[in-house]
Amino acid sequence: MVKVEIVELKDKYGKLRISETNPYFVNALRRTMMSEVPKLAIEDVIIYDNTSSLFDEIIAHRLGLIPLPTDLKLLVPREECTCNGQGCPNCTVRYTLSREEPGVVYSGDLQPENEKWKVVDPNIPIVELFEGQRLILEAEAILGKGREHAKWQAVNAPAYKYYPVIDIDHSKLDEDAVKKVIDACPRNVFTEKNGKLTITDIEKCSLCKSCMEVVEEGAINVKGDDTKFIFTFETDGSLSAKEVLIEAAKILENKYKELAKLLK
Ligand SMILES: [Zn+2]
Repeated sequence: MVKVEIVELKDKYGKLRISETNPYFVNALRRTMMSEVPKLAIEDVIIYDNTSSLFDEIIAHRLGLIPLPTDLKLLVPREECTCNGQGCPNCTVRYTLSREEPGVVYSGDLQPENEKWKVVDPNIPIVELFEGQRLILEAEAILGKGREHAKWQAVNAPAYKYYPVIDIDHSKLDEDAVKKVIDACPRNVFTEKNGKLTITDIEKCSLCKSCMEVVEEGAINVKGDDTKFIFTFETDGSLSAKEVLIEAAKILENKYKELAKLLK
């Protein structure tokens, strides 16, 4: 039975300790988070007027990458919607942007049809307008998945590392060697207590083995436990870390169920 402990769960950042499992499962969770969890992003842009220094395509591309708040309970993917791809309020969120005065146009200038869809970060620059230039457009956002386009990727750099295991043979470490080890570790994993080498925070260890190189063979042994992992991920703000984690777990569960059914 896989054991998951939540080490840290902030709005946009999560850190988990996953044990009694294997690298394949943890990697499946990582890949699901990246490519299967849906989020909202701008897909279609109708440009009414653009006299800025950037081409329409570049502006549309930049709009696509702006994180939008995603409520997976309210929206359905357009291809599964009862409107048959027409674009209705159940599958589509509309924004307008209209700027005529000089200055930088920011993501916050995108006006949603409903305040609840207000962009997550209003300070992302889109284009700078000079005297006499205008940008007027309409944009439609829909749900999509990271495997179709990176703009629909809800997380940045989900990663895992093997849980560190450090064995110390104190009989092979004199005072001088203890000092060397403490200095050699780039993550400050070790300290000295009553003349002995002690570990302060094992989770800081990156398995670089620098400590093993400065002592005699067998004094310290660092290895990774392939049944226990530290998993970290960060979202772009479209979904909270908790939402991404729950959604990814649901998707994985369904995939395993389907596989089990097919095997029968
Ligand atoms: Zn629809």
